[in-house]
Amino acid sequence: MMDVIRQLPDHVANQIAAGEVVQRPASVVKELLENAVDAGATDIQLIVKDAGKTHVQVIDNGVGMTQTDVRMAFERHATSKIKDAADLFQLTTKGFRGEALASIAAVAHVRCLTRMNEDAAAHSLHIEGGKVVDFGQEAHPVGTSIEVKNLFYNIPARRQFLKSDSVELNHITDEFQRVALAHTDVAFRFYHNNTMLFHLHPGSLKQRIIGIFGKKIDDKLVPVDETTEHVRFTGFTGKPDAAKKRRGEQFFFVNNRFIRYQKMHYAVMRAYEDLLPQGTYPPYFIFINVDPATIDVNIHPTKTEIQFNDENMIFSVLASAVKHSLGKHNVAPSLDFEVGHAFTLPSMPKEVVPQQPTIKVNKDYNPFANANPAGGSPSMAASFTGRERDKNIDGWESLMVPDAQVPETKHPNLWQDEEESTSEAIYVLANKYIVQMQSDGIRLIHPRRAHERILYESLMKTMHASTAPSQQLLFPQSVQLSLAERQRLEPWLPVLVSVGFDVDVDVDNNIQFFGLPVHISESSIPNIVEELLRDVSESDQIDETRFQRTLIKNLAKNGALRNVAGLSEPELQSLVRDLLRCDEPQLSLHGKPIMHNLRIDELEKIFQ
Ligand code: ADP
Ligand code: MG
Repeated sequence: MMDVIRQLPDHVANQIAAGEVVQRPASVVKELLENAVDAGATDIQLIVKDAGKTHVQVIDNGVGMTQTDVRMAFERHATSKIKDAADLFQLTTKGFRGEALASIAAVAHVRCLTRMNEDAAAHSLHIEGGKVVDFGQEAHPVGTSIEVKNLFYNIPARRQFLKSDSVELNHITDEFQRVALAHTDVAFRFYHNNTMLFHLHPGSLKQRIIGIFGKKIDDKLVPVDETTEHVRFTGFTGKPDAAKKRRGEQFFFVNNRFIRYQKMHYAVMRAYEDLLPQGTYPPYFIFINVDPATIDVNIHPTKTEIQFNDENMIFSVLASAVKHSLGKHNVAPSLDFEVGHAFTLPSMPKEVVPQQPTIKVNKDYNPFANANPAGGSPSMAASFTGRERDKNIDGWESLMVPDAQVPETKHPNLWQDEEESTSEAIYVLANKYIVQMQSDGIRLIHPRRAHERILYESLMKTMHASTAPSQQLLFPQSVQLSLAERQRLEPWLPVLVSVGFDVDVDVDNNIQFFGLPVHISESSIPNIVEELLRDVSESDQIDETRFQRTLIKNLAKNGALRNVAGLSEPELQSLVRDLLRCDEPQLSLHGKPIMHNLRIDELEKIFQ
């Protein structure tokens, strides 16, 4: 029998390898830009034609290459950046595989000009399909220019696979932005078909972000800065009102390398939970600095994924860093909501000396910990007193949670001086709004949103308590499930129990309710089941914390007041008091305003 195994010729092996590194013009852009940065350039030009299909060129003023190096650079596994495997854990450069130039040269026409400071002229190298066709000298400034023409000219199938110019140009822009954001000390110019798309000057991160996304983003960001023993987070994250339906302004950089990291995105989104309308994403530009020895970048050829030794620690610090920043800045009365006036903080009684508002942020807060967070942040728990519960007013006791089962929090909060002022006159306007007189104006409240918020925060807290209060039903209720629905829902039953449901599924696939969380009425059971089924089927990414939050949101929605008409004055007062004790009394679960203070000086303006 004839031997059949043979070594592939280099140019074929390179073409195959190229498939991994070079998927589209944007991959070429990324590799060339990163090489320019690695070469220490302070000024980089990207010149693209026809969305990179015919021409991608990067010109830098970096160190350049020697005559031997420029020839070596296009060989596979030729790199100046690492010498052995140990260096992989001390990486300070973008590149390290030594594959990019060889891969690009295997599938395009490449011309490279490179000159070092000490050389009088540049070395010029011409490669087509991986073969050197010309090598010489030419006049050129110090630095390197690499021009990549006719990408995939020798792989028609790949060429056909390319998308429209606008799609390919978007990919290129993405790559350009990622490199430009990570290197704010480098000047960048980006031309497409002879039009300059970006001209970025060296400067701060904020200036770079504005240079890329425009001036309008300027006042929509709050700084993030958190340092622990092992990791440092810096950068900016968007105020809730900067969130958009479209993704695209979310960036993570680990040791200045852009990375994609879905789990890390979830960590950030957790910090925004309850602040954003569903399906919207805030912009963020978060830089993570860790000891290179604790990450492994050697995972994917395009290097946008990395692995941390201790990712859970990183996630929880990240979530609390973002929460911390939002907490610090949300109290600023400059949130720009759809209402005409800017929010103002609830007024203080006259005799109280005004103080700079502060918010207590628990730095140890760990959103991933299931246990009741020690310390806790300011809480509404104290408002659920026996006094209120005893009133036992129809349809209203739902607000009350037995004292013993609510974690005790004694932290002073922003609103503590308000306690007395809530006994000021209170009215219901148009069966829709609560109006409360204040010493210096009028407070308007959207009661349904307020009640949702109160229920939500109370449920979140009872969930963390060891036993969640539950009201037993006289007649158990059941809802028929299909087998598939049962299988989907069953794993989540313990979570239902953790918020106060007493449930089980019987042999006939009936989900049976023996008890409900205190404020939930029997009539909302079918709704709740339907929403649960939707939540568990909508996403396969769903984790426990997320499920709990969605569940609690749904419960709050189902349990909240529909109507304030029948409420007595003390009930209204108590609602307002409970709201003011919430961690987030200003914003509804969907990011809409809950209250608005109209101060006397604003009224005076109206009557001028
Ligand atoms: P890697 O970046 O992984 O080392 P590349 O194939 O991208 O691999 O580049 C190979 C080598 O060519 C680099 O290690 C570097 O020494 C050299 N090189 C590439 N681009 C430049 C440039 N713009 N300026 C100077 N040297 C460069
Ligand atoms: Mg490289």
